[in-house]
Amino acid sequence: PSFEDFKLNKQLLTAVADSGFTKPTPVQVQTIPLAMAGHDVMGIAQTGTGKTAAYVLPLLMKVKYAQGKHPRALILAPTRELVMQIEEAVHNLSHYTDLRTVGIYGGVGPKTQIDRIREGVDIIVATPGRLVDLYRKGELHLKELKTLVLDEADKMMDMGFMPQIRQILEIIPRKRQNLLFSATMHQKVLVLSEEFLEFPMKVEV
Ligand code: AMP
Repeated sequence: PSFEDFKLNKQLLTAVADSGFTKPTPVQVQTIPLAMAGHDVMGIAQTGTGKTAAYVLPLLMKVKYAQGKHPRALILAPTRELVMQIEEAVHNLSHYTDLRTVGIYGGVGPKTQIDRIREGVDIIVATPGRLVDLYRKGELHLKELKTLVLDEADKMMDMGFMPQIRQILEIIPRKRQNLLFSATMHQKVLVLSEEFLEFPMKVEV
């Protein structure tokens, strides 16, 4: 299969070509059509497989263009480094759109992040702790979310983020699409997936 086989728009296909991706990786071949059809997806895939683009491309198709002030997609990841990497991938792949993406993580002062949220945001990439902080401060409106991604879910469980993730799940709309990626499928991930995925389609590479 090629990227043209997916129902991606011109803007995304151009960004994919700019990124130097000539053909989709196995996790992309399996995930993109399922996610674009609106399914919840449970992906077991390691870093290096192309999993980021596998969920970012369908997410960008769904969010499509800048609209209003509040985020419509949220990507959660365990570490600041991973958040920054995902943010960069989203920026690159959304280069030909007007979508606004903000990365939210600890270890730096919140001011710049808060200013950018206030300007309006479509996609948030965040670590769970700082996201909950900013929500409690009243800086985040999460009722417009249509898509939630948990990346490196196993690592988030290992790092003890379950309470924050539960808090976030209570805040956001029930009706939404969920995409979960994990390098492993151990017990804690299974518990998490049962709590938050609805009739998930499984992808394993
Ligand atoms: P990830 O597993 O998402 O961390 O991606 C690993 C690396 O593969 C990143 O540097 C991506 O930019 C790159 N990548 C993702 N999809 C493709 C593709 N279809 N062809 C070539 N490289 C890719």
